[in-house]
Amino acid sequence: MPMAGVYVHIPFCASRCSYCDFFSTLELKDAGFSYVEAVIAEAALRRGELGGEPVRTLYLGGGTPSQLPLPLLSQLVDGLRKALDLTHVEEFTIEANPDDVTPEWSAALPSMGVNRVSMGVQTFEDDILRLIGRRHTAAQVVQAITNLRSAGISNISIDLIYGLPGQTLASWIHTVEQAIALRPQHVSAYGLTYEEGTRLWRQRERGEVAEVPEEVCVEMYRELVERLQEASFEHYEISNFALPGYHSRHNSSYWDETPYLGLGAAAHSYDGSIRRSNPCDLHQYIARIQAGEPACEQEEMTSYERYDERVMLGLRTAAGIDAERLREDYGEEVWSHFLREIQRHLDAGHVRLAGKSRYVLTADGILLSDSVIRDLMW
Ligand code: SF4
Repeated sequence: MPMAGVYVHIPFCASRCSYCDFFSTLELKDAGFSYVEAVIAEAALRRGELGGEPVRTLYLGGGTPSQLPLPLLSQLVDGLRKALDLTHVEEFTIEANPDDVTPEWSAALPSMGVNRVSMGVQTFEDDILRLIGRRHTAAQVVQAITNLRSAGISNISIDLIYGLPGQTLASWIHTVEQAIALRPQHVSAYGLTYEEGTRLWRQRERGEVAEVPEEVCVEMYRELVERLQEASFEHYEISNFALPGYHSRHNSSYWDETPYLGLGAAAHSYDGSIRRSNPCDLHQYIARIQAGEPACEQEEMTSYERYDERVMLGLRTAAGIDAERLREDYGEEVWSHFLREIQRHLDAGHVRLAGKSRYVLTADGILLSDSVIRDLMW
């Protein structure tokens, strides 16, 4: 089975954004060097899991990979090249925060082989950026994109969030229009969720921030889809849009179940049947790798769990789910369950048939995707 991707988690941030519950720490200065050494050692330790298949995509995510000082970033990339065969990598993405994207940082990327940058923009409203604890301004986003383009990076993705406290439909439309005006190749947009334990969640509990009403969030999403499509972006996954030819190959490989190797604290891997996960603890991760053991826990997935995974990921994509392939991969029982459950949503107009046996969410179905997916799961 072809190994599509390698993901490396860089769990360092300069400060914590109020809404975020990803695994990251503020310990870059103390632990950055030993962490990078551990990731390189882990790559060497686990390269056998690639089964000799060529790595097509490499993704440095976080956390904030752009926080790594350039010499450390370059050490990481060199080390990964020595530990793994990266000669067939077609897409090499690094996540960045706009305030880190200086001309010097941008200029260093092409020589490391980076050809795609994914930037956490979230909104173009400075007051909201401040409220949610982001360190950048809207003007810095514009400057960052200029810096990247001047350095020859021509594949730029930006992340946006709708439903942020204080956001109105009009201010969100302004953010979408600003994003379109900058002509990134790719846009990911997610609705805000209040995750328990985050600063934002506590602020809402204390009544310091108010949630944007559900019906306004729905309108925000509709405006996003309509405006991006008018601007020639293809809506290829519920939260992802790309100009033709710029779908994220790395993320697409998660959605179509191509195996990937995840390195670093809190990283996940999947080889087609076994899911592995590394500890969400920086020091435990480093210590175990230094002791020469893989840090991951592993769990063999049953065919029912793999079916659930396919429903959860596949139905979110514009390609949808092919019922015939479900039958081939998971057997008659699962196939009959799927057909029984999908029929109700077909009748209700939440999904449509595309071709002989492929089911795709309709525009109405996308708004109800969580409940459609829940019904289809085993
Ligand atoms: S920079 Fe990203 S990973 Fe770090 S706290 Fe903010 S949202 Fe979370």
